[in-house]
Parts: sequence; structure tokens; C-alpha cells
Amino acid sequence: MERLPFIAGNWKMNKTVGEALELVKALKISLMGIYGVEVAVAPPFTALYPVAQELKNSSIELAAQNLFWEEKGAFTGEVSPLMLKEIGCQYVIIGHSERRQYFGETDEMVNRKIRSAIRSDLKVIFCIGESLEEREEGKTFSVVERQLVEGLKGIDEERMGQIVIAYEPVWAIGTGRTASPEQAGEVHRFIREKIEGLFSKRTSERVRIQYGGSVTPENIKALMAEPGIDGALVGGASLQAESFTRIVRFKEI
Ligand code: PEP
Repeated sequence: MERLPFIAGNWKMNKTVGEALELVKALKISLMGIYGVEVAVAPPFTALYPVAQELKNSSIELAAQNLFWEEKGAFTGEVSPLMLKEIGCQYVIIGHSERRQYFGETDEMVNRKIRSAIRSDLKVIFCIGESLEEREEGKTFSVVERQLVEGLKGIDEERMGQIVIAYEPVWAIGTGRTASPEQAGEVHRFIREKIEGLFSKRTSERVRIQYGGSVTPENIKALMAEPGIDGALVGGASLQAESFTRIVRFKEI
């Protein structure tokens, strides 16, 4: 089963509106005519609308980095799926380890967010992954399984087309320490087996699983050569047009 590679840039809490526009203008040029790979950028909330305007008539898609599950109401500081949809977001990142770690997001909250995004016809980049301590204690598979099962509770199989999974070992995020293609491939295989168990073989063959954690232009090709790795969620290296472009154009390296 051929799956379209998907590379997404998570800008985290970086880029003013001016800087975001500068980056996206450069990407529009450097990625012009690119085919055979889906590309998205995830700017911070303040830059989403201006970046959405800039991306009109471009094949680069727009992702938010978070949402709240209610549609509207007294939830100071939160942003709803409807608001993201209205300004042209196609994707939303949910369950990123930084949100789990620093903002107390639990599997249950992640699940509510995923269900809410799906209801609003947003596509989801659903992040899972173990910490260094969990890996060293031999808990990688049980942690990933728990996050996967809890996060996908109540999701109908036909909605799985809206979900991309990002396997991001926490010890590899922003550390310069990448999982080897074999290490990542092993967990990707495990995730796909679990998806088969939860849904069906067909869905497990269709779901795209990105790798995330210190992806660079230097390591992307080897990672993408691993069967079962369908793309990357890129943090640091997505902040410059040059490095992100080289990652997206990995087939040409
Ligand atoms: C991320 O933010 O999802 C990420 C993988 O970051 P980095 O590429 O900087 O490790």
C-alpha cells in the first residue's frame, strides 16, 4: 500500500507574524512544483491567520499546534476547532509531548481534543512517544500502546482517514539525539499492528505514521528509507526555509 509521505513543520512558540510571513514566503518559492509529498506548517496561533492568507493558492497546508475541545464559551485563553477551521487550518497537532509534559495534558484530554477536532472536520497529527526513563525501563511499547488506545477511544474507523500518527520519542525531541531508523521502525511496526487490532488490516495499512525527534536534512533520507516511516514531524529544522526545504525534498538528496 503506497502512502503519501507527509512532512510537517512544528514551529512551536517561535516566529512573530513578520518572521512567520518571511519564512512561509521563502517556502512557497523553495517548494514550488514539489509533488509526491504532502507538506504542512504549524505556526503559533498569532501567525495562523496571516500565514493562511499567504498560503492561499499554495500546496503547503496549515496546522495549528493545539486546540480546546469545546466549540465556544467561558474558556479564557483557549481556541476552538471552529475557530481554526474558519481561518483555513487543515490540520491540528494534538498530544505533543511538550503539552503533556508542561501543560499537564493527559491521555483523556488528548482523546477529547482528537474527537472534537474530528467532529469539526479537522485532520489530526496525533503525537505519542515514550520518555528516556520509560525507554530505559523497557516500557516503550506499553507507553505507546496506552497513549494510542486511550487517544483513539471512541473514534470510528471511517474517521481514521483524518488521523496521522506521529511517533516522537521524547528523548529525541530537541536534543539532537535521533532514534535510529531501526529503533523508529520497530515502534512504527508496533503502532501499525495495534491499529490493525483496534480497527482492521486495511486501516493499519492506510494510516500514516510520521517520525519526530531531531530530524535534519542529514538524517531524513535514512529515516524515510525505513519501511513504515511515512514522513516526519520536524521542530528545530523547520524554522529555517533552507533546512526544511532540504527535508521536504529528501528524495532529491
Ligand atoms: C517536535 O517538536 O515535534 C520535534 C520533533 O522537535 P525537534 O525536531 O526539534 O526535535
